Amino acid sequence: MSLLVVGSVAFDDITTPRGRAPRVLGGSGTYFGLAASFFTQVRLVGVVGEDFTDADEAIFKKRGIDTRGLERAKGKCFFWAGEYESDPNVRHTTKTELNVFEHFSPKLPAEYMDSEYLFLGNIAPTLQCQVRDQLGPRVKLVGGDTMNFWITGMPAEVRRFLSRLHILTINDSEAHLLTGEHNLHRAARAIIAMGPATVVIKRGEHGATLYGTSDYFGVPGYPLEDVFDPTGAGDCFAGGMLGYLAQQNRWDDAALRRAVVYGSVMGSFACERFGVDRLTEITSADVDARYREFIALTRFDA
Ligand code: AMP
Repeated sequence: MSLLVVGSVAFDDITTPRGRAPRVLGGSGTYFGLAASFFTQVRLVGVVGEDFTDADEAIFKKRGIDTRGLERAKGKCFFWAGEYESDPNVRHTTKTELNVFEHFSPKLPAEYMDSEYLFLGNIAPTLQCQVRDQLGPRVKLVGGDTMNFWITGMPAEVRRFLSRLHILTINDSEAHLLTGEHNLHRAARAIIAMGPATVVIKRGEHGATLYGTSDYFGVPGYPLEDVFDPTGAGDCFAGGMLGYLAQQNRWDDAALRRAVVYGSVMGSFACERFGVDRLTEITSADVDARYREFIALTRFDA
């Protein structure tokens, strides 16, 4: 099943205790799309500037991602700079330049209109809703993500976006910010009351927890001793999760549980190198092997 994603396609300046990557391809749409491409056909919607090169586009093409929905505009790509503390869960955004995103109005190509799976990646909630509106009732499952920048900057629009989702993936700190609840279980319930039937709270190296109307499921983080760069791990998590659901064309409790594990697998790969580097070198066999490691990690005898 085709999976349409709208999100940022960006250049990032990343500083971690392992070093600095001053200008690397990133963005929520980029990370999500690369991760989801291991499972299903991905259609990308976004905007890039004149600084986006054919070599950048080749990274998507190599993974079979459909880029007909990637608009080229005058100006520069979205730019984000972030710095991580020695605790990789603590990140400081030092710069956010919207650039071409400032005047972006997504227009879906006719070929995308039959998409049945949709992911509204982290961008302005107004743009997320515009894409949702254009697709109409054919869409079977809508996932989404957001972050502190939008939760504090456009709270009413974030509420409208939430009311249109089936699945929300969100960081623990952002779940607190969104709901005012410090207990994660209460925060998840509060988010479910805002719209999405399923909420997955991502807790970085500590794993992820799925809350549904009839299920509760937790997965540990993959035991990585060397975290190079956590940027994009959350988007890759969502890409693995939604990519798997679109591939299976089902989202019952059992499929959702496996999807959370595939999400954890893809998120862990993202951290192993700077930017998208690791995602461009792994194969489906690597994904399968790590999925099996997760089964071994979480199995116990009753
Ligand atoms: P993650 O680490 O999964 O939260 O995603 C990091 C990616 O999100 C980076 O590649 C950034 O380019 C992108 N990003 C950061 N801030 C924003 C924002 N306000 N809107 C859209 N994308 C963003």
